Amino acid sequence: MSHRAWIGLGSNLDHPQQQVLNAFEGLAGLPLTRLSARSPLYSSRPVGPQDQPDFVNAVVVLDTLLSPLALLDQLQALEQRHRRVRQRHWGPRTLDLDLLLYDEHALNLPRLVVPHPWLSSRAFVVQPMLDIDPGLCLPDGLPLNRFSSAQPSNDLKRLAL
Ligand code: ADP
Ligand code: MG
Repeated sequence: MSHRAWIGLGSNLDHPQQQVLNAFEGLAGLPLTRLSARSPLYSSRPVGPQDQPDFVNAVVVLDTLLSPLALLDQLQALEQRHRRVRQRHWGPRTLDLDLLLYDEHALNLPRLVVPHPWLSSRAFVVQPMLDIDPGLCLPDGLPLNRFSSAQPSNDLKRLAL
């Protein structure tokens, strides 16, 4: 049976908009997986160190037969193919892929926490998720739109494409 996984994308290096558009294709091409929805692209100021470029963010929904950890492996392999170099926490990156939600599951594994811990406190995640599904509820039953103005906006701007 297929599972519904929500993925958050972020990039602020090396043509971020193109990184995110390429990542849409990469995600659509993952094994046993179909890309079923994608949000518009947004720009936002970085969380953490400010001496780095703005981010381009988006969210996609995947229908997948992969398990959560197998999907995480695929996301990390895709990050590597975008030549992501992990330098510092919250530092610049060519591509960050976060597994936001996986069906209604709550997972707390050493490598994987789902729902993603900061999901509801980041406008650049909440807004694109609501663009895809305005009625989305989190596994604990709370409607996501409850968080839509509850966090700093980080100058979130929808990019015209
Ligand atoms: P961040 O996204 O917080 O800036 P990273 O992308 O470098 O940091 O992720 C660090 C680690 O977070 C990864 O090695 C991964 O195993 C772990 N991780 C835990 N939960 C998740 C999740 N839901 N999605 C993606 N990575 C996760
Ligand atoms: Mg990440």
